[in-house]
Amino acid sequence: MIPDNNSAGAARAAPLVSFEFFPPKNDKMAARLWESVSRLEAMAPDFVSVTYGAGGSTRDRTHETVRRMARETSLSPAAHLTCVSATKQDVLNVADAYWQAGVKHIVALRGDAPEGMGQKFEAHPNGFRDSIDLIEGLKENAANNSHKFEITVSCYPESHPDSRGPDADIAFLKAKQDAGASRAITQFFYDTDIYLNFLERARAGGVTMPIIPGIMLQPNFEGLKRIAKLCAASLPDWLHKLYEGTENDSETRDLITANLAAELCQKLQEAGIQNFHFYTLNKAGLALSTCHLLGLKPQTTGVAQ
Ligand code: FAD
Repeated sequence: MIPDNNSAGAARAAPLVSFEFFPPKNDKMAARLWESVSRLEAMAPDFVSVTYGAGGSTRDRTHETVRRMARETSLSPAAHLTCVSATKQDVLNVADAYWQAGVKHIVALRGDAPEGMGQKFEAHPNGFRDSIDLIEGLKENAANNSHKFEITVSCYPESHPDSRGPDADIAFLKAKQDAGASRAITQFFYDTDIYLNFLERARAGGVTMPIIPGIMLQPNFEGLKRIAKLCAASLPDWLHKLYEGTENDSETRDLITANLAAELCQKLQEAGIQNFHFYTLNKAGLALSTCHLLGLKPQTTGVAQ
């Protein structure tokens, strides 16, 4: 275990958090999202991010969501952007529109094949090949129009299904950093050693940028199993046991989920990690409970009474 420069804070300082949302599909989901955004704004996150649907399917909704965050909140929003099913110019146009809207942070991703996760990714004939090509494209674009985005990338402590091996994973992450990324967020995990070992290997491989643990707040264990299988994230036996018998009890599942996430973060804090990125699934309650358990209090009054 190594002390890390992921954050400047000492182990007992309040953590620095960020929250991930997905763009809403309908009015009901939009109402839930904006209520969640407003409640989580009070936790003064470092940034918030909005995902880009598979195959660019949420392009307009992602754009509208991120723009509204920039326009109507005090939050610092980041837009996820993928290379899927689009020409380089299309992707750069989307990025330029973000810049014009005041969104200056991109989470640059390759993305999955339009047929879905687990299918072989084929780049668009005139598109970016992979996340590194996308980062380089954004940098080249910035040389022409000064849109110097802050760039965050993904990484996979348990290896991505397309991994060419553990050493190649670290070299690939280092190449993302060399191309211009300044932060990585991990795929979710439930075993702190998986993250800490990856971090240690990344540091040994010359990756110096912060590698923020991605903490999943999914109380639906069946849903979690489905996604974990697709992205090759392991779910320990004790986790199966923990959720056993809660299938018809959402209240208990929520309590378990927030406590579990807080415990994971606390173990990471003991190793000197102070930055956490929460996959909120647009539900403020779980993220707020987890933050409270970590000692992070709302910074403003009058919100979410
Ligand atoms: P990359 O990291 O570019 O590549 C995936 C892996 O393949 C690498 O980690 C490496 O192991 C291997 N690899 C690829 N090329 C090489 C090479 N040349 N040499 C060696 N190894 C190589 N998906 C969405 O559709 N929308 C989102 O908004 C979204 N947000 C995400 C946010 C986070 C934090 C994470 C972790 C994932 C997110 N995803 C999202 C999922 C992501 O799109 C998929 O996992 C996709 O399959 C890979 O995209 P990537 O940018 O992570 O790929």
